[in-house]
Amino acid sequence: MRFARTRPTKSWPATIPASKTMRVGIIGAGQLGQMLGLAARALDVECCFLDPGESPPAAGCGTVIRAEFDDAARLAELADHADVITYEFENVPVDALRIFDGKVPVYPPAEALRHAQDRLAEKRLFGHLGIPLPGYHVIDSRADLVAAAEKLGLPLVVKTRRLGYDGKGQFVVREPADIEAAWQALGGAALIAEQWVVFDYEVSAIGVRGVDGEIRTYPLSRNVHRGGVLHTSCSPLDVPALEQSATSFIQRLLTHLDYVGVLALELFVCGDQLLANEFAPRVHNSGHWTIEGAETSQFENHLRAILKLPLGSTASIGHAGMVNLIGTIPEAARSLDVGHLHDYGKSPRPGRKLGHVTVTAASAAERDRLVARIEQIVT
Ligand code: AMP
Repeated sequence: MRFARTRPTKSWPATIPASKTMRVGIIGAGQLGQMLGLAARALDVECCFLDPGESPPAAGCGTVIRAEFDDAARLAELADHADVITYEFENVPVDALRIFDGKVPVYPPAEALRHAQDRLAEKRLFGHLGIPLPGYHVIDSRADLVAAAEKLGLPLVVKTRRLGYDGKGQFVVREPADIEAAWQALGGAALIAEQWVVFDYEVSAIGVRGVDGEIRTYPLSRNVHRGGVLHTSCSPLDVPALEQSATSFIQRLLTHLDYVGVLALELFVCGDQLLANEFAPRVHNSGHWTIEGAETSQFENHLRAILKLPLGSTASIGHAGMVNLIGTIPEAARSLDVGHLHDYGKSPRPGRKLGHVTVTAASAAERDRLVARIEQIVT
C-alpha cells in the first residue's frame, strides 16, 4: 500500500517568533531583590531595579535606576521598563506608588503596604480578621505609657508604629522606672505598647496568592532571633494543628487584601496557640530555605504570581535549615562541606545581613545537627 504524501495544511513562518520577554520593575535592589533577580533569570524574565545605593546586591541581576524611592521622574522611568511593578522592602512610600496608576500594575497592592507600615493599622487588621494577637495600647503621651503598664502589665515592649524593623525602634519596659527612659528614647514618634509575650518559639507562615485568587502556603518555619534579628529558620515543623491555624490566618489576610504575590506572617507560639506579631508584604528572610528546600522558591512563586503565571508547588523537599551570616562572612563559611552559601556581595558592617547558608537533610534530626554545626562554624 502506498501512502499519499501529506502536505502541510498551514503555511508556517520561517522562524517562530520568540515569545515576548516579560519585564518586572523592582523597587529596592538589596538581597531580596537579588534573589528575585536570580529567580527571574531562570524564568527568562528581565528585571529593572530602582535603588539609591551605589552598587546594591541586585546590580548583577538587571538594570538599576539609581534614585531615591520617592523620585517621581525615575519611578516613571521604571514603569517604562516594566510590565508589572513590585517591591522588596516595606518602607516604600505608599504615595509614591500612585505614579504607576493607569500605567502598570503594582503587586502586592498598596493597601497591604499601608497596613504593614503602621503597627496600629496592622494590629487592627489582625483583630478585624479574627487573627489572635498580643494585647496592645496606643501611646501618644507619657501618661499613655503609664496606662499601658497598668493595662498590659510589665514587662511590655514599646515600639515605634512606623519604620521599625529587626527589633529597631523598640524599648522593653521591665519595671516602672524604665517608663521615663522609654519615653525619652522613643517619645518623639507615634508609638504602640505591646504585652510581653512569653512564647515557646517563633514561626513564620509564608503564602502566595495569584491574580486569579489561587492561594498556596509553604510549610511553617521555626525561627530563632538574636537581638531582634533573624538568626536561623528551619522547616518543616510537623505540628499539624499550628500549620492549620497559620494557613487559615494567612488565607484570611491574602483574601481580604486582594493580595497578589508572597506574604510572610510572623507569629509567636504559646502552647497550642498562635499570636500574630507582624506581616511583611514581600518575600521574607525566613523563607530563604525555600530556594533549596521547596519545590518552588518563594522568589519564583512571587514572580509567577505577579506575572500571572501558574503558581509552583510549595511542598518541602526534605528538611531545610537556614543560618544568617550577620556582620561578617567567616572564611570557614566559604569551604563548608555541606550546605549552600549565599553571599549577597555586601561590604561587611556590624549587624548587617551579608549572606546565609542553607542545609537540607532527609530528617529533622539530621537537619538540626547540620544547622548546629554551621552555627558553630559561622558565629
Ligand atoms: P519585631 O521587629 O516586632 O518583629 O520584633 C523583633 C523580635 O523581637 C521578634 O521576632 C521577637 O523575638 C521579639 N519581640 C517583639 N515583640 C515582642 C513581644 N511583644 N513579646 C516578646 N518578644 C517580642
